[in-house]
Amino acid sequence: MHYLSTRGFAATPHFSEILLGGLAPDGGLYLPAQYPQVSASELDTWRNLSYANLAFEILKKFATDIPENDLRLLTDKTYTEAVYCNTRESESAKEITPLRKLQSEQGSTLLLQALSNGPTLAFKDMAMQLLGNLFEYVLARDGSELNIFGATSGDTGSAAEYAMRGKKGIRVFMLSPHLKMSAFQSAQMFSLQDPNIFNIAVKGVFDDCQDMVKAVSNDLGFKSQYKIGTVNSINWARVVAQVVYYFRGYLSATKHNSEKVSFTVPSGNFGNICAGHIARMMGLPIDKLIVATNENDVLNEFFSTGIYRVRKSAETYHTSSPSMDISKASNFERFIFDLIGRDAARVKALFAKVESQGGFDLSGKAGSDGDEFKFVNQYGFLAGRSTHQDRLNTIRYAHEHYEIMIDPHTADGIKVARENMQPGIPMIVLETALPAKFNETIREALDKDADRPLGMHNIEDLPQRFDVMDVDVSAVKQYIASHVDE
Ligand SMILES: *Cc1c(COP(=O)(O)O)cnc(C)c1O
Repeated sequence: MHYLSTRGFAATPHFSEILLGGLAPDGGLYLPAQYPQVSASELDTWRNLSYANLAFEILKKFATDIPENDLRLLTDKTYTEAVYCNTRESESAKEITPLRKLQSEQGSTLLLQALSNGPTLAFKDMAMQLLGNLFEYVLARDGSELNIFGATSGDTGSAAEYAMRGKKGIRVFMLSPHLKMSAFQSAQMFSLQDPNIFNIAVKGVFDDCQDMVKAVSNDLGFKSQYKIGTVNSINWARVVAQVVYYFRGYLSATKHNSEKVSFTVPSGNFGNICAGHIARMMGLPIDKLIVATNENDVLNEFFSTGIYRVRKSAETYHTSSPSMDISKASNFERFIFDLIGRDAARVKALFAKVESQGGFDLSGKAGSDGDEFKFVNQYGFLAGRSTHQDRLNTIRYAHEHYEIMIDPHTADGIKVARENMQPGIPMIVLETALPAKFNETIREALDKDADRPLGMHNIEDLPQRFDVMDVDVSAVKQYIASHVDE
């Protein structure tokens, strides 16, 4: 299996050659040269596999340059009951992503697939935990090391730290805005005592942290001397790891391959639902893939009009589903590449236009950049939007009618899913976080505190380990250098 860039970069690397990197050298994103296909008989034999074994079967189609025995050790080590143990009472940790029926009305079934039972209570653990083990394996094999440097306002940073803690050959340097994260989120990150994890609280806002990361990444000399890397959502291995739970959800919701299901996915950077697109391209019988956005509705706009228009920071809102607050969707280029028939030269031109003019138009109207919006249906995509008031209403509705507490992102998903139910086709909503992470909104909706998983009741009281720093690029470089050279 070879990979190519959405913008036409000439080399065709293997899986482990793109594993540690982000963008391709031409600024594009990596995709397999062809999507591996899954046959009906394979799907039949996969029905009864454990999550870890299913992950192995899917991963081996993409990671063809990792010996199968090694890959099996990695998936077995990752997808265990001990790692995904933060289940609710009625769920079984053994299932890793348990499926729960919420509603069954007029031939339509609404299901919720739990993806948030990992250590940081959000779906990013599903992929990041595997990434930690894959990175450690490849670095040991190549006798190399990696210093992950990133900025976070919450979910991504904590998922990365919990995946990389204690891993040989890896350090994590994570910037976060000082005193701006919730007490629970800071406690999650800062209570880690592992010597390879460095939390840096920056006296500024999240954008300052991101600018510092960009400044360091632009210093190519520093970057290569200190082996700086990232784990952002465009990382290909993260996308592949996410493909697995679409198969698991489908196989758990159906008895036979003639049945179809739809998925609704609370979306930001289009990473999660991009994995659904890939599962569907591999032959998984998915009917619709429904993108749920919050007030930051770049994607809803595209899937309603064919116009992709990225937002300026003044137009990007801070909402109560903060992990979906995006100005542009960094994985979207992967879908556009398929939508326009894998024409890399056109993808390059379209995304150059995003840089120069803030977007492109595939509506087919006079003066547009193409007419491929008309093919969106063939790929199963639909979209919907949800607001703060919708989240509050949906959290209340779910509490009352489904007897379950849901987090604000999942609420966006359930709101949009209920608008798109089709008779005879089960609708699976992906639960992207547990409510304990977003207590403020739960209190606003339900006037009581969110449930907390066992062992997390006193997390704010644990000793914390972090350093405070000004918005100062040379100081952060010095900090990294001194800890790497130690
Ligand atoms: C990251 C995240 C999302 C958005 O996922 P994308 O892959 O960026 O679309 C949604 N909900 C939660 C809780 C998240 O952490």
